Amino acid sequence: MATFKVLLLPGDGIGPEVMKETRKVLDTLTKAGVAGFETETSLVGGSAYDAHKVSITDATMKLADEADAVLFGAVGGPKWDDVPYDVRPEAGLLRLRKDLGLFANLRPAICYPALADASSLKREIIDGLDILILRELTGGVYFGEPKEIVTLENGQQRAVDTQVYTTFEIERITRVAFDLARKRRGKVTSCEKRNVMKSGVLWNRVVSRVHREEFPDVQLEHHLADAAGMQLVRWPKQYDVMLCDNLFGDMLSDVAAMLTGSLGMLPSASLGAEDANGRRKALYEPVHGSAPDIAGQGLANPIAMISSLAMALRYSFGLGEAADKLDNAIATVLADGTRTKDIAAKGMNAVDTPHMGDAIVRALKASM
Ligand code: NAD
Repeated sequence: MATFKVLLLPGDGIGPEVMKETRKVLDTLTKAGVAGFETETSLVGGSAYDAHKVSITDATMKLADEADAVLFGAVGGPKWDDVPYDVRPEAGLLRLRKDLGLFANLRPAICYPALADASSLKREIIDGLDILILRELTGGVYFGEPKEIVTLENGQQRAVDTQVYTTFEIERITRVAFDLARKRRGKVTSCEKRNVMKSGVLWNRVVSRVHREEFPDVQLEHHLADAAGMQLVRWPKQYDVMLCDNLFGDMLSDVAAMLTGSLGMLPSASLGAEDANGRRKALYEPVHGSAPDIAGQGLANPIAMISSLAMALRYSFGLGEAADKLDNAIATVLADGTRTKDIAAKGMNAVDTPHMGDAIVRALKASM
């Protein structure tokens, strides 16, 4: 039986609550003989600051570097609003992304049929939706230099951000997109603004070349990023994998997120480059934050965190069948009408966080 090293970083607020339920799922998979999981748990974010005056320690970074996957809860909260900028809770997450070289951010937008009525769009538009937004995470306008606000001689101020991409950066994220599409429905839509941006011209050119030379079996289309935003709310099922730079990916993944209802449902993965053994550094986390408004009350929906584990099974551990079973267990529990408060329709009884975790574990066991 294969054994994987998993680092658990529950973090702050509802992070530890949703991580506890995810642990139950890991234990269930281990007991069922799916794989062995050696877990370590460590502090990150505000809880790390309270204990060590930093948002992540070097020792935890070493554990993250050695792990096959990191499962991350959420960080932050009003308690740490006044801590120094470089040790604020979010700095722990940024250091993980940077030091592990996590350049590819995967955000699936899946609409479970049982929740289709919770979307702001009509049921037929989002029922059964399953698309993946792939966002380049370490380049582009958020990091390009110069990045500054300067005061001009006439007293006006001028702000500059620099959108910059190299061939290498575009090639490596493009390969991830085509690899993912091969495991899905075989289609990539690349989004840029080649009509008004030089970085869009290069992006389009490099994606087309990588497609032609390495992935001719995958379908490729190019959309202008603004039109893609419109299409996402008009007919999102036309997409499979949407390939985006950092800025457009940030925006389009948030649009896609809202197609599916609650923040408590959305997982994500961030992947690094392949090593000589074909393994990638990887961090899996829910899209939501630490939700201080509901922390400690048993109200948190653990599905985003548990779905993040499903992504780890699929992308880091090669356990696609177990990932499918876990995804199906979540769908079954939702179809049965089990709901945390954030996804409960009017008149429905809501269960607390541990009950939702237990229901998913029961459905998973029944399928194994
Ligand atoms: P948030 O995602 O924490 O919460 C937004 C709203 O969604 C809240 O009303 C919350 O109760 C609800 N919500 C979120 N997750 C939920 C879940 N699993 N179940 C049920 N309801 C859920 O965003 P925010 O309120 O803007 O930020 C709160 C804190 O989290 C801030 O300190 C922020 O910096 C931090 N944050 C951290 C991350 C991260 O760790 N990756 C991401 C976003 C925000």
